[in-house]
Amino acid sequence: MNILLLGSGGREHALAWKIKQSTRVSKLFVAPGNAGTRLIAENVNISATDFAAIKAFSLKEKVDMVVVGPEDPLVKGVYDFFQTDDSLKHIPVIGPSKHGAQLEGSKDFGKQFMMRHNIPTARYKSFSASELEGAYDFLSELNPPYVLKADGLAAGKGVVILDDLGLAKNELKAMFDGRFGDAGSTVVIEEFLSGIECSVFVMTDGDSYKILPVAKDYKRIGEGDTGANTGGMGAVSPVSFADADFMKKVEERIVIPTVEGLKKDEIDYKGFIFVGLIAVDGEPMVIEYNARMGDPETEVVMLRIKSDFVDLLEGVATQTLRDKILEIDTRYATTVMLVSGGYPGDYEKGKPIAGLDGVSGSIVFHAGTKLANGAVVTDGGRVLTISSYGETKEEALSKSFKNATIVSFAGKNYRKDIGFDLQ
Ligand code: ATP
Repeated sequence: MNILLLGSGGREHALAWKIKQSTRVSKLFVAPGNAGTRLIAENVNISATDFAAIKAFSLKEKVDMVVVGPEDPLVKGVYDFFQTDDSLKHIPVIGPSKHGAQLEGSKDFGKQFMMRHNIPTARYKSFSASELEGAYDFLSELNPPYVLKADGLAAGKGVVILDDLGLAKNELKAMFDGRFGDAGSTVVIEEFLSGIECSVFVMTDGDSYKILPVAKDYKRIGEGDTGANTGGMGAVSPVSFADADFMKKVEERIVIPTVEGLKKDEIDYKGFIFVGLIAVDGEPMVIEYNARMGDPETEVVMLRIKSDFVDLLEGVATQTLRDKILEIDTRYATTVMLVSGGYPGDYEKGKPIAGLDGVSGSIVFHAGTKLANGAVVTDGGRVLTISSYGETKEEALSKSFKNATIVSFAGKNYRKDIGFDLQ
């Protein structure tokens, strides 16, 4: 079958790598892709949100399935676009409907969903700009630190956590005044939860589900999880504290109620659910939902799926996921992200990347790269991620770190403590 994958990051390179291993795939296209995806698939110069161009391409190339990597096309309704067009509705889109993508696109929608279906999460209230006084009162009721979340998508920057009540009030006002544009016209204020985070990924066909390997990502730029938030600096799977007992609680208290909740609410959802979790004294609580796979977690999760991934995707598309087998590799997988100097602040692009041929024992997934005059150059903040297997976490990490020194570009930076906090 012919598959069109939308997106251009490390997540999409890892998805493409896994999809490509299936004997079922004739052609794999990635729109727009990067310098890594072009080595294993055909890059198509179409933006992941240009639905008219995606339609024309899908018809011309006889695409049999569309797999959506990032959230933007989902929130903008790519699933509904295909479903409501007579010439496209035979092509399944792996990803939720626009309604389902609201789990990620609106934090207030996500929180209301959790409340409605008794899914454990932090206590909260949502406010709009006209409710400033009520919002100040609610903030005053809470203990510090104060968690403020712009309701809409804000490129991963819309969550602000502050220790001081005065500063929290100022931030709230700034959000209402447009700091995050329309995304902040509603703000979710919630109780701070203290614990350790992990990411659980669920595949669902709207009826049954499969839980993919659990992963932990490292969001901050600095070692010891310090400094500014990034898109993610590395990831490991499995996660020592997310043991069988913990995952049983996650399945019973979170995954089943979430899939059942989608059904009860008649939300059309055939895709991935990313549950951002925090373990508070060993009890799982939901921090957030995302409507797609995580990046860089996908760059370890794909390594640990042994089954034919396209078979699983077909199970999602045809609502036969229940009958599919998900076989997991028991080995550890780790990934270490190489980023541009200055990221997540200002950074330069276009730096030539050397040493890719010298990598051995790891898999390099490209994130922000492109081909310029025949050479691979940097084209984003997060540039490449180096994924490795190991019988132990230490073995996998040592391969990722060794190869991180072999690949080079001007300004290269990476965290040298990925996975160190786990047993
Ligand atoms: P991303 O785009 O990185 O997924 P986001 O902008 O959608 O993030 P959240 O994941 O909801 O926002 O929050 C970002 C981070 O803020 C979380 O990973 C967590 O570390 C922290 N956080 C969010 N809510 C809480 C909370 N209630 N208590 C403690 N920490 C929190």
